[in-house]
Amino acid sequence: MTSDLLISSLPKVVLHDHLDGGLRPQTIIELAAEVGHELPTTDAEELRAWFVDAADSGSLVRYLETFDHTIAVMQTREGLRRVARESVLDLAADGVVYAEQRWAPEQHLTQGLSLQDTVDAVQEGFDEGVALAAEQGRTIQVGQLVTAMRHADRWDEIAELALANRDRGVVGFDIAGAEDGFPPSRFPGVWRTLNDASFPVTIHAGEASGVESIAEAVHLGQASRIGHGVRLVEDITGLETDAPVLGRIAAWVRDNQIPLELCPSSNLQTGAAASIAAHPISRLRDLDFAVTINTDNRLMSGTTMTKEMTLLVSEAGWTLDDLRDATLAAAWSAFIHHDARHALGEQILAGYAQAELATQATQA
Ligand SMILES: [Zn+2]
Repeated sequence: MTSDLLISSLPKVVLHDHLDGGLRPQTIIELAAEVGHELPTTDAEELRAWFVDAADSGSLVRYLETFDHTIAVMQTREGLRRVARESVLDLAADGVVYAEQRWAPEQHLTQGLSLQDTVDAVQEGFDEGVALAAEQGRTIQVGQLVTAMRHADRWDEIAELALANRDRGVVGFDIAGAEDGFPPSRFPGVWRTLNDASFPVTIHAGEASGVESIAEAVHLGQASRIGHGVRLVEDITGLETDAPVLGRIAAWVRDNQIPLELCPSSNLQTGAAASIAAHPISRLRDLDFAVTINTDNRLMSGTTMTKEMTLLVSEAGWTLDDLRDATLAAAWSAFIHHDARHALGEQILAGYAQAELATQATQA
């Protein structure tokens, strides 16, 4: 009953989607030609396959190489703007009505742009994408999540950049990259600054590293959401039994309904989960955690929101109600104000009600 077509028409929310992980292969080819960057192939379909293969390879070196290519073509104002614009259009075509896209400004400075230039260029692209989508009859809201790289020492500077642009499209702050060895406690002051400014934070945690990393993200980092958090299950004993026992941090995350930005296909590629059927997202949902469904890197994982949701239905037995609940959880944890979240929730409920009517009509 939950056909691919039905899922593609549902209103979606994505909170964890990397701007540098969602480029169109043809765009990479065209931008690479302009800036003189060499690619593994200049055939769009071959390049699409190359990205997925490299990300699937199990080799961290090859996985990281994929980002060398996408980031290389996002060093100019026009490159950033085009990628941002097309990303919004692709998300809108996938039925996404609200998106937060994250990216690391510090990785886009090799051709002379300033940090502020990069934020401006991305915002221009987002604004253009939203306007073009509206012309095509699709409504989408998009916010920027500004990311600092864990291994670099620019967290303070990037947090200041996020704050300076908080009323100009930037809705939150994130740290990404090597989780092991670069914990939030490296620069405790940055979290105090953001917290004092009442500015939203999400932190990649519990993907490459375990429970302590999640605890630090939530307690020291004051993260209101967790990027991935898939390894939170390590703090639950008897996970598959009728009476699982939650450890301190798992209980804290559930009691406070701290949303988990889970990315099923991406988690398989990094080895954080064994299969879609065995992915902890289903068990965490059963245990009443605030689970959300996300894409992470659409290009490297060869995915879309429709595909992630379809996989959960076909391989993990998710129902339309499950998809609706996860979408509402995402809407309620979006980095927008309460009244805007409420309106987004209403939009989602209306979309699901319409889908249910359509399903009934086909069955009658
Ligand atoms: Zn991520």
